[in-house]
Amino acid sequence: MKILGSAAGGAFPQWNCACANCRAVRTGTFQGKPRSQTQVAITQDGRSWFLLGASPDLRAQIEATPELHPREGLRQSPITGVVLANADLDHVLGLLLLRELQPLRIHATSSVRRILLEDNSMFGMLQRIPNQTAWTDFEPGSQFNLCNAQGEASGLRCRAWSLSEHYPAYVTVDRQAQLAPGEASLGFIIDSNIGDSSSTSRLAYMPAVPQLEDALVQQLEACDVLLFDGTFWSDDELIRVQGSGQTALQMGHIPVENILDKLAGVRRPRKIFLHINNTNPMLNEASLQYRQVREAGWEIAEDGWQFNL
Ligand SMILES: [Zn+2]
Repeated sequence: MKILGSAAGGAFPQWNCACANCRAVRTGTFQGKPRSQTQVAITQDGRSWFLLGASPDLRAQIEATPELHPREGLRQSPITGVVLANADLDHVLGLLLLRELQPLRIHATSSVRRILLEDNSMFGMLQRIPNQTAWTDFEPGSQFNLCNAQGEASGLRCRAWSLSEHYPAYVTVDRQAQLAPGEASLGFIIDSNIGDSSSTSRLAYMPAVPQLEDALVQQLEACDVLLFDGTFWSDDELIRVQGSGQTALQMGHIPVENILDKLAGVRRPRKIFLHINNTNPMLNEASLQYRQVREAGWEIAEDGWQFNL
């Protein structure tokens, strides 16, 4: 598994942002790392890779990752499939960068597929020839095999957990009325076999978590690794930086300072924050918030991190 990008939408630094963090990165005085927009890639066999979402930074992220470079023939890619958690631009724009007639399987809810293919004609570039992209619908709550472009099961098994009923702002009211609310935004729990053995390891990928219900916390306790929503430190973070705007919870993100409390009892998994907004003070390794996160047993993802599950 590789973390190709770990920032929230806009990345870090963000092009139009002059917050304390972004300014310090630009002047070279920041104690911490810049980050590209959240992107994770997973594999069972080390040869075929699946992307969790497709970030706007995907081209540079692929080039920075030798495992994802073409290996055989003139046109080839180890990337064989994508799993979509939602229809947010930060999560799907990278699909348009994968349009060079390379066969690809895309797992999505039928609602997310309809938004992209029926309402956004640019995504037709992924459907120019037969078998260019194979879209496969999944249902929230069900477990499904991640399959390659040819339809063969990879050995990775994914369960989608419905997290939010909030569709992106660009989806019209009329369209939203036709969609299943539970298909708007999902988290994934992914099982893979360890080596040749029959034992499995379990990864949770949840970059946008608006609330922490008991049933979800129970699921997280059974995982080996959590990649979890680290967007904002506090609920009023953006309002404090910008003087106006929405709270973290209104934007569908439970603040990190609340997560530390609510998941303090979850001890089994390795706990990693990703999808970190550029305004989040925990990005600064000299900050109190950074120390507080680390002392609570959490890690803060960086671009390029790799580990075996
Ligand atoms: Zn900033």
